[in-house]
Amino acid sequence: MIKIGSGVLTSPDRSKLDDSIIEQIAHQVSTLKKSGCEIILVSSGAIAAGIKELNLKKIPEDILHKQAAAAIGQSHLIGKYERHFKKEELKVAQILLTHDDFSSRVRYLNAKNTILTVLSYGVIPIINENDTVAVDEIKFGDNDTLSAMVTNLIEADLLIILSDVKGLYTVDPKINSSAELIPIVKKITSEIEAIAGESKSLTGVGGMVTKIQAAKRVSLTGIPAVIVDGKAKGVIEAIMKGEDMGTLFIPEKDKLNSKKYWIAYTLKSNGKIRVDDGAKSVLISSGKSLLSSGVVDIEGKFESGDMVSCIDTNNKEFARGLINYSSMELKKIKGKHSSKIEDILGYKIADEVIHRDNLVIL
Ligand code: GLU
Repeated sequence: MIKIGSGVLTSPDRSKLDDSIIEQIAHQVSTLKKSGCEIILVSSGAIAAGIKELNLKKIPEDILHKQAAAAIGQSHLIGKYERHFKKEELKVAQILLTHDDFSSRVRYLNAKNTILTVLSYGVIPIINENDTVAVDEIKFGDNDTLSAMVTNLIEADLLIILSDVKGLYTVDPKINSSAELIPIVKKITSEIEAIAGESKSLTGVGGMVTKIQAAKRVSLTGIPAVIVDGKAKGVIEAIMKGEDMGTLFIPEKDKLNSKKYWIAYTLKSNGKIRVDDGAKSVLISSGKSLLSSGVVDIEGKFESGDMVSCIDTNNKEFARGLINYSSMELKKIKGKHSSKIEDILGYKIADEVIHRDNLVIL
């Protein structure tokens, strides 16, 4: 999976798409493909291309004009890819997704099957957020997140984030000249996240924070990630040869299975349930389901089947899971023994409030 940011794709003054970069990427992807790799691209650049088409001076501030620019620019973007890949005798497929497509298990699996089928034709899928319809509630927000979610969706072997920086530095290199590139991150600790938080001077939508979060998302499912300078010549091939470039993130050994990953890191949380200390320790240490007797309180409005966060009595989130009861129902049965559920509600959906198969301890 190769994610290409707007900063890489555009000319130095950001006013238009840089054909020479797209040409270089197409050439490198084609070489890799000949060596037997399957490649998927997540590409930004729709809004940048739209701005150029509309002769605008800068990115519009409001969402409607941004969406219009994306709609106008996306066809140019894909047109350029199509042209440059054609020279390499490769075809491309445009796939536009929103976060909402990942919230339903059926659409999630459909997206996966389509991408895999496109690959089976030997065609290069080029994915972007469907900016035209994506308003805040259904947005990935940035293509770093989108690329990580697609990496996990199709269980790719590697995520390469082509960026306008060389990788993760010890401090922000634009502020401090003693900054050193970190070649390998074995674990994404809070210190690593804090370093990324300081590097705010990056361009593009995401910045270093969303890149580290993307690396973290894929590391949870056992997939490595590399953040690297996307404008460097031959960078994709160099990485695949194992050359020392950018920052490599080593994945976690204890990986989550794909359903649990989907529950905890793909779905958006619809509410919180506060759990007492006894139930919390049983959930963490013995892998049991959450029962109504352990629920102290409920925040937010949710329906049966929604993803909710479990918080402890200190308000710290420690688990996420698919809830069997709505917030209305849960308010009535919280703190009560499971054997009382039917008496209270007049029916019983399940003994468990969250079944352990649908529960992820964070
Ligand atoms: N989807 C946006 C575009 O194509 C870019 C989002 C991002 O760069 O993170 O213009």
